[in-house]
Amino acid sequence: MKNQKIKAVPLLDLQSQLTPLRAEIMTAVKDVIDSTQYIMGPKVEELENSIAEYSGVSHAVGVSSGTDALLLALMALDIGPGDLVITSNFSFFATAGVVARLNATPVFVDIDPVSFNLSPKALGNLLSNMKEKERKKVKAVIPVHLYGQCAEMSSILSITRQFGIPVIEDAAQAIGAEYLIENEVKRAGSLGSIGCFSFFPSKNLGGIGDGGMIVTSDDEIAKILKLKRVHGESTQYHHEVIGGNFRMDPIQAAVLTVKLQYLNKWHQERQKNAEYYSILFQQENIADLILPQSIYSKQGLSNYHIFNQYVIRTERRNELQTHLAKHQIAARIYYPIPFHLQPCFQSLGYQKGDFPESEKAAQTVLALPVYPELTDAMQEYVVEKIVEFFRK
Ligand SMILES: *Cc1c(COP(=O)(O)O)cnc(C)c1O
Repeated sequence: MKNQKIKAVPLLDLQSQLTPLRAEIMTAVKDVIDSTQYIMGPKVEELENSIAEYSGVSHAVGVSSGTDALLLALMALDIGPGDLVITSNFSFFATAGVVARLNATPVFVDIDPVSFNLSPKALGNLLSNMKEKERKKVKAVIPVHLYGQCAEMSSILSITRQFGIPVIEDAAQAIGAEYLIENEVKRAGSLGSIGCFSFFPSKNLGGIGDGGMIVTSDDEIAKILKLKRVHGESTQYHHEVIGGNFRMDPIQAAVLTVKLQYLNKWHQERQKNAEYYSILFQQENIADLILPQSIYSKQGLSNYHIFNQYVIRTERRNELQTHLAKHQIAARIYYPIPFHLQPCFQSLGYQKGDFPESEKAAQTVLALPVYPELTDAMQEYVVEKIVEFFRK
């Protein structure tokens, strides 16, 4: 039998990422400790400059988490009670949670079943069918670049421009993901008015704790973001507007600056792993198994999908997950409940059946290990166990 040596496959292996970088990271952390500059400072600025350049924008603002990046982005647009914010119905909770925290109302749109991203068609229908008075309340649209592949931004932006609505990209899973627009290759976060990144340890660029970043090429928005990041303080103890403490920790910035050097290499390795899975699965031709589609792979982009997650679909998802767990293979469900069925959003008045594609995705998706350090043998083992499940 093949692959007898593989005993377990974790969903993510941060130890294997750390080992080759350990000395470099330790030095970076030590430098921050020895500098006694523990709030903001040159390390945060250095990372902000690097991420701005990496993403192709004029400004980057380091913040405390991806969730806070989204929250502060909405605060920069002055979103509050009475306002509507449209977003994808199928994402991590923070995408919708931040809207509700500001006492604005999240309005959900179904996803495209192939990309799992906000459906431009559903967005267009929603906005066109809204009464003028209602539509004027829509203050932002938040598309999510789920699993590391950009939403269909050309179509989304042509709709939002028509109605003059700003776009905040939830690029928490997609830093560096590329998108071809008007013959130009752009990166996630640089397509809308504001882009938000997360450095949660499981993201492609992960810190040693929480962290996030907001990017924009709008000077005015950048100014407000920086002001609201520190309690709206213009000069010491003078508060022009109400903000919060959304500052990035310089230890996180120092670690992330080290890791950023390797990010494109990791993206390429994830992409390569995804392609290998697809080759292995295609040889097996399993009827009830849908593989993830890289919808921009033929456009000459190098980061056409950064595969924060490699997500397969099957009607027998729960059984398959149990089967894999029995063989020490970690596979996770991102996400089991779409927003409109979350208990905390019941007051919004949505019903089961309102968003069929999100509901179907929630019942069928399963993320397989795809992290950069995953070996061919581990992937072969994963595929072997999945094939075994479907054939028995
Ligand atoms: C991770 C994530 C967030 C939140 O980021 P945190 O850093 O964990 O606060 C928001 N949206 C999406 C889509 C995410 O994957």
